[in-house]
Amino acid sequence: MKTIIEPFRIKSVEPIYFTTKEERKAILEKACYNPFRIHAKDVLIDLLTDSGTSAMSSNQWAGIMQGDESYAGSESFFHFDNTIKQITGMPLVIPTHQGRAAEKIIFTILGGKGKYFISNTLFDTTRANIEFSGAEGIDLICEEGKHPTIPAPFKGNMDVEALKKVIKEKGPANIPMVIITVTNNSGGGQPVSMQNIKEVRQVCTENKIPLYIDACRFAENSYFIKLREEGYADKSVPEIALELFSYADGCTMSAKKDAFANIGGFLAMRDLDLAIRCRNLLIITEGFTTYGGLAGRDLEAIAIGLQEVMDENYLHYRIRSIEYLTNKLIAAGVPVMQPAGGHAVYIDAKEFLPDIPVDQYPGQALVGALYLEGGIRSVEIGSLMFGKYDETGKLIPAQMELVRLAIPRRVYTQSHIDYVSEVIIDVFNKRNTLKGLTIIEETPMLRHFTAKLKPVQ
Ligand SMILES: *Cc1c(COP(=O)(O)O)cnc(C)c1O
Repeated sequence: MKTIIEPFRIKSVEPIYFTTKEERKAILEKACYNPFRIHAKDVLIDLLTDSGTSAMSSNQWAGIMQGDESYAGSESFFHFDNTIKQITGMPLVIPTHQGRAAEKIIFTILGGKGKYFISNTLFDTTRANIEFSGAEGIDLICEEGKHPTIPAPFKGNMDVEALKKVIKEKGPANIPMVIITVTNNSGGGQPVSMQNIKEVRQVCTENKIPLYIDACRFAENSYFIKLREEGYADKSVPEIALELFSYADGCTMSAKKDAFANIGGFLAMRDLDLAIRCRNLLIITEGFTTYGGLAGRDLEAIAIGLQEVMDENYLHYRIRSIEYLTNKLIAAGVPVMQPAGGHAVYIDAKEFLPDIPVDQYPGQALVGALYLEGGIRSVEIGSLMFGKYDETGKLIPAQMELVRLAIPRRVYTQSHIDYVSEVIIDVFNKRNTLKGLTIIEETPMLRHFTAKLKPVQ
């Protein structure tokens, strides 16, 4: 088999900045061991997130120039609207400035005290918006999804039996929505099978509960279905995506992921009454219904990106590049989530650093070490992000302690990725020298964004 090459050539380049290890030591200290506090120019390879960090195509940049900035009824809105209707089959499309803005609107309307939102795994902003409304979020990931290093084809699946049980327990009337996140971002970027979506749909129908898709990575998930699920090998990605959305009543989407845009999002749905209520809120918080917090040029870039992302040459390269890094790390004995997910490589920090207890945030310690060693920025997805405190102030840890290396779309080449693997393996070889961290300052919600930490003495 020949090397799988990047399916693009480079027309415009952006410099990256090199620092010395001494400089990075001082930067890390100043940032209080939180990668969100580091200036981007002090980062060599930025794998903090794949959100809003994609390289746009020449077509998207051309679209930026053609954006129609009319307040109402902009041509760019209709391009956006038609594209999303075509991809999802959903008749009502509401633009928002990000995924979380779509979440804020829908959960403000459907949430509130005494309500439960059930998911395979809620993403952090989704959970935060649910909890901010007074409602509770419940994650019901399948058993395979709980074991980071045991491979299985669809580790993002929801546990359908547990779903039935929780619906019975809480009562269907108290559950405004079931949400399937594709791919399952917080659970390792693992895909959800069409079969699982169908089964969840069935349970939702029986209980009259709407099913929504958190569709941020719908194209990556659709491609996994094509590769791994029986009966889909000969279907095109747009066909698979349309089927996937056909089981849902609506979706939320961040266009900063599978739309190759630097900003944007949307809500799409089938229920007109609900759409009218959403649009009323949209006008208060985001803007008029034909731009929703976005410039016309953004709507244009998103519409073009949504078509480009379903190109199978692109998806082949995309999925393969994540697998390439994963396999290099596995070969060196680094504990990583298996199999490779769609947008990121996840290191199992609990296994990587078994001597650092969870209340000393092993994931965050590893994030710091990767920056110090090679200027790589990653993010902890563990007890700093999801941990809570009990009444006595003791940490209730997250289910897993992961470090995510999210790969921006169309940005880095194979040699960048080779360098990343070398740095991780170097850190792995001296893992015994790493120290845990304690929090010195934090906020009550989404604390990982701003928390300050220091090394344990
Ligand atoms: C990024 C993301 C969101 C939130 O979208 P933003 O555009 O960052 O507000 C929601 N769900 C998932 C699965 C995501 O990856």
